Amino acid sequence: MSQNQPTIAPQPGIMEIALYEGGAAKVAGIENVVKLSSNENPFGPSDKAREAVIRAAHALHRYPNTDHASLRAAIGDVHGLDPDRIICGVGSDEIIHFLCQSYAGPDTEVLFTEHGFLMYRISAHAAGATPVEVPERDRVTDVEALIAAANEKTRLIFVANPNNPTGTMIGLPELERLALAVPQAILVIDAAYAEYVEDYDGGADLATRLPNVFMTRTFSKIYGLGGLRVGWGYGPREIIDVLNRIRGPFNLSAPALDAAEAAVRDRDHVHRCQTENARMRNWLAEALAEKGVPSDTSCANFILARFADEATARSCDEALKAEGLIVRMVAGYGLPNCLRITVGDEASCRRVAHVIGKFMAERAGVVA
Ligand SMILES: *Cc1c(COP(=O)(O)O)cnc(C)c1O
Repeated sequence: MSQNQPTIAPQPGIMEIALYEGGAAKVAGIENVVKLSSNENPFGPSDKAREAVIRAAHALHRYPNTDHASLRAAIGDVHGLDPDRIICGVGSDEIIHFLCQSYAGPDTEVLFTEHGFLMYRISAHAAGATPVEVPERDRVTDVEALIAAANEKTRLIFVANPNNPTGTMIGLPELERLALAVPQAILVIDAAYAEYVEDYDGGADLATRLPNVFMTRTFSKIYGLGGLRVGWGYGPREIIDVLNRIRGPFNLSAPALDAAEAAVRDRDHVHRCQTENARMRNWLAEALAEKGVPSDTSCANFILARFADEATARSCDEALKAEGLIVRMVAGYGLPNCLRITVGDEASCRRVAHVIGKFMAERAGVVA
């Protein structure tokens, strides 16, 4: 480079971003792996969603619609929400991004919980804002700590409820208390796992009533459409209007829009997946506890298995991998002694329990 070449530099914050690593999908040398590392639905999407994608394949030369009216109407129908207060994005990741781009920036703060989803930090940095991690209480969101951490620079507070990777959640009255205590900021309730919780609206009612509550949802988890990338947000009209101004007009592809609409209308599929997840989640948690591996009561489609220390968690991860079972190390979330295990189908859960049981028995033998 010549001496007077000006420096090309990105905006502040960008170089602070650590690249997001998705859950592994392969183990070298093993063919039939079971991927339990990304909280995907083991049963996949509704057949109606698959059929919608195949139908959409005949019109791939056409641009998709820009207002997502049909998908928003379907979501509004199913959830009893005003479609005008819904925005759709390329996964809820994109909605999180829109929120940070629109409301945060240099000299502002974005709050999230200690073991919160990594995208909050990434999007805060991307907007040039300061990410602030707030302690939890025994792996549970601590509303008091969030209220104490908020100040006049706080613009956004992200709370995943249930949270990933802890699987724990707090009650709606607590979230309401938080929203009322920080009127200067938007409380974003990330309800990616809401469908796994019975009698829980994901914060929809709060987002209907309060001017500073916003809810995000996704088609990547119970709907089994992670590969298509569709998420949505719901909240005050003013916020929706702001986010729509920075949304790319063609952010969602036609197959994604059609599949999501078919998926959200298939309530039987959602119900079946929810029932089966609850059954196998409870079974797996109990099976692991019997083998000396505790976990907090999970409200989602995964279990956070706790081990004595990081070395044990790592060895157990290796033991699972050797059997073709891929789970998630969560050291990046400040939980180095834990493994996050997605609740798979019954056969996968039994294999996981068997391998972890054998691993723990062998260790006990070594220690004894
Ligand atoms: C999986 C997940 C999401 C969903 O992200 P998409 O971009 O919609 O796939 C959002 N928040 C949390 C906490 C998650 O675990």
